[in-house]
Amino acid sequence: MRTVQGKTVFDGVAVGRILFFGKKQETVKRERIENAEEEKKRLMEALDVSLDQLTVLYEKALKEVGEANAAIFEIHQMMLQDGDYLDAISNMIVSQKVNAEFAVATTGDHFSQMFASMEDEYMKARAADVKDISERLIRVLMGSAEQEVTSQDSVIIIAEDLAPSETIQLDKSKVKAFVTRLGSMNSHTAILARTMNIPALIGVEIDADWDGLMGAVDGSSSSLFIEPEEEILERLDQKKKQQEEMKEMLFELKGKESVTKDGRKINLYANIGNIGDAGAALMNDAEGIGLFRSEFLYLEQDHYPTEEEQLKAYKTVAETMAGKKVIIRTLDIGADKQVDYFEMEKEENPAMGYRAIRICLDRTEVFKTQLRALFRASVYGNIAIMYPMIISLDEVRQIKIIVEEVKKELLEAGIEFGEVEQGIMIETPAAAMISDLLAREVDFFSIGTNDLTQYTLAIDRQNPKLDAFYDSHHEAVLRLIEMVVKNGHKEGIWTGICGELAADTTLTERFLEMGVDELSVSPTFILGVRKAIRNCDLSQI
Ligand code: PEP
Ligand code: MG
Repeated sequence: MRTVQGKTVFDGVAVGRILFFGKKQETVKRERIENAEEEKKRLMEALDVSLDQLTVLYEKALKEVGEANAAIFEIHQMMLQDGDYLDAISNMIVSQKVNAEFAVATTGDHFSQMFASMEDEYMKARAADVKDISERLIRVLMGSAEQEVTSQDSVIIIAEDLAPSETIQLDKSKVKAFVTRLGSMNSHTAILARTMNIPALIGVEIDADWDGLMGAVDGSSSSLFIEPEEEILERLDQKKKQQEEMKEMLFELKGKESVTKDGRKINLYANIGNIGDAGAALMNDAEGIGLFRSEFLYLEQDHYPTEEEQLKAYKTVAETMAGKKVIIRTLDIGADKQVDYFEMEKEENPAMGYRAIRICLDRTEVFKTQLRALFRASVYGNIAIMYPMIISLDEVRQIKIIVEEVKKELLEAGIEFGEVEQGIMIETPAAAMISDLLAREVDFFSIGTNDLTQYTLAIDRQNPKLDAFYDSHHEAVLRLIEMVVKNGHKEGIWTGICGELAADTTLTERFLEMGVDELSVSPTFILGVRKAIRNCDLSQI
């Protein structure tokens, strides 16, 4: 038996025969052509066929994984039609008198290297997409068929990398897991794997010779076992059974209230990062959305999302949640979330730098566009707005002035909007310390324990070396939380927690004792937290 380690993209246990998915690399030869116009015509015909193939993939993905995840194939269509990309290929055909296949392969390499060398993690991940579209075009030009991912039963796919179009074609009934050497936690493939519920590891030093051997994936330890021993298989089997039992037990909690034994009702909401996650929130019985990280809209684009684009996204989530509360957090970029078109200067200390509300109060047009979209979307559901990274009363007052301007402009333009609750995130020690004053200005508090821990303990949350020191159970963090809840209640506003700590069931009872009114967690943790809430009895306090 051999054991190799990677990083878990999606947790779970899987056992099956290993199938090495070696990309059938088309060998592209450089050939001299006589008629460049003819060659360009071949290219355009292949482009049409490729676009049609992508439409088929889009439709399939739409049914299986929802609009947000299917969007990658629309993006591929857009990339294929990109003027710079097509011009570069055509110019090469004409100037060097080379065949279309060679021009596509060379241009694809150049573009994907360009993306791979970018600093922004999101743009880096696009290198795989450029490779994917170029390979598709080459396959069509050469008349070769798309590679079948698998035709066998229960396989663990190992590959150098899996392109998004390959991931979506995985037959879920046959593929038990996938393991790749490349790929990032932010790649579309990783996102799709999570949505498709397929255990997945990345960063594993794979070996083509494992093809046909038995394999076992254990997401909780990020391990792939090759030819696993009986003892390992038994242990994993146990684990799988436990996970399934747990899931079944938790599913029995669907439709039940999030209420303590002594009858206190807690609002149990979901954290989401895109429209597609709203489906997962509903499937796991979320009672609302406690944190919609709106920055995905900005990260997924190469331009400032327009008011209409944002309206569409917010309206979709509001309608999907059908009247349940949807708390949308305004743009929180900066620090680990960089967007190229914002053209922000490099900073020595980005976590403490130009980010979130600081950008919005500085670039008010960007902020106002988002606010207009949010207020307009409020007629389609129960939308609330939340502002991140607050440190002062002055910021809240500035926000209020801008919000009033936006409302006035909408009124003057005869555009409808609804009543919108407005709250702030408490994620800096400064905000926690003045929460008595802030509570008079807003409708609710939502405590962001991820940043609150980082700033209270002076520990960079991005630095893996400091994981051992990042103690969110630190008494300083817990006391700040308690203080915020008390100050909120004194002024009659509700207070929730939306940082990762909200899902820590070893703290549920303590949070409820403090008086926390709402917990907002990733969709997969909702039923586990509901169970913990229902086990609490606060009558003795
Ligand atoms: C937090 O800081 O706890 C939070 C919820 O915000 P984010 O993780 O997006 O910074
Ligand atoms: Mg935060």
